[in-house]
Amino acid sequence: MNDHDSERLAGALLADGLVAAPDLETADVVVFNTCCIRENADNKFYGHLGNLKTLRESRPGMQIAVGGCLAQMDKERIRQRAPHVDVVFGTHNLARAPELLRQAAEQGPVVEIFAEPLPPTDSSIGDQRSAALAAVRDLPYAAWVTIQTGCDNSCAFCIVPSVRGPEVSRPKVELVAEVEALARRGVSEVTLLGQNVNSYGRDLTRRRPLFDELLRATGAVEGIRRVRFTSPHPKDLRPETIAAMAETVEVCNHLHLPLQSGSDATLAAMRRGYTAERYLRCLAEARLAIPDLAVTTDLIVGFPGETEDDFERTLEVAAEASYDSAYTFIFSPRPGTRAAAMEECFVPADVVVERLERLRVVVERSALARHRDRIGRVEEVVVEGPSKRDPEVMTGRTGQNKLVHFEPIGGTGIASGSFAEVTITGAARHHLSGELLEVTARPSHRVRIPVSAG
Ligand code: SF4
Repeated sequence: MNDHDSERLAGALLADGLVAAPDLETADVVVFNTCCIRENADNKFYGHLGNLKTLRESRPGMQIAVGGCLAQMDKERIRQRAPHVDVVFGTHNLARAPELLRQAAEQGPVVEIFAEPLPPTDSSIGDQRSAALAAVRDLPYAAWVTIQTGCDNSCAFCIVPSVRGPEVSRPKVELVAEVEALARRGVSEVTLLGQNVNSYGRDLTRRRPLFDELLRATGAVEGIRRVRFTSPHPKDLRPETIAAMAETVEVCNHLHLPLQSGSDATLAAMRRGYTAERYLRCLAEARLAIPDLAVTTDLIVGFPGETEDDFERTLEVAAEASYDSAYTFIFSPRPGTRAAAMEECFVPADVVVERLERLRVVVERSALARHRDRIGRVEEVVVEGPSKRDPEVMTGRTGQNKLVHFEPIGGTGIASGSFAEVTITGAARHHLSGELLEVTARPSHRVRIPVSAG
């Protein structure tokens, strides 16, 4: 969500006439888009801000803006700790960044935070909703589409509901029109984004969620060949969603289903609303309905009060779920959350680090086994471009969201966004390798990424 906000923020600044600077030292405007989900990011951000003070003093015309959910939460602290910041804005007024920078240049520092998204049609200010912004995208063929903002859940560790507000779904017709417009511009893959995509539309209908309908409608848009989404909440994963995934060929066979913990006691303390058994049942139903489904997850280690038994349950459930990969996190207390107030039950840091390592071993074991199972198969990949480590090698992504490294035939290069068939010849914990069979479709956009012939 934060990455996508950055894309839209860049789009707003570009549309206002700014261009990307080659480095920090020559930039006239420096914009931080912050995220407050984890403590580490906070600390890094204040470090960066402090480092900029001298540069700002040596270049009087330079402006610094801070946006995002940390700015939303910490606006007073930012002003106190870094008076050299010109603009502070929140997640709901990204589109106002250029205007706020102008205002600050004329009148001095500006702080503007909206508690909720702007209404769809506020004719007095035009369409300045963040969701309406054109994004500057890394990959020309792939786009994120925000389908809802905020969250109505109250997971004990999570700060999102207090900084992003309650769930607000965008109208389905508007989303489909956005996907159609993206497809006309050459986008073939969209990722639907929300804090709890399963509940998309519940606020619109006051009845049942519309996520299954949205999946089908997005998959039906001409030119869209892959639909992804993140993240569904296990307690709300409905049979209708699983059916829509199974019956819509464009919806990728990948489910990111955050488990967080395998212990029922910890899940209850986290206020997640499901048990490990229910989670595993849900997963089994999804695997039965959707052939060749890849499953990934999020796991938190060291939630307050987590005992060795609780943690061992997490290891067991993770092994049983047999994940393709997992994001594993050390619990990070966020100010104002229920979990942050459970200080007396915090797990000692050395115990948490040791548990994280044991969990990593379990997750990587299943990931490697699942990757080895794919050796010998022919996979369809979308070509991303040359590998960051070795420009002679191309990378592509399968429908299961697995990264595949392969050598281009004759070193001639393949356009980013091309579809290609690759035989899988090798497996590692975090990627596959393969041999290119053929390029099956070229993208409609005109970006071409050359590969050096050596
Ligand atoms: S579902 Fe829970 S973890 Fe996810 S955004 Fe909402 S409160 Fe946070």
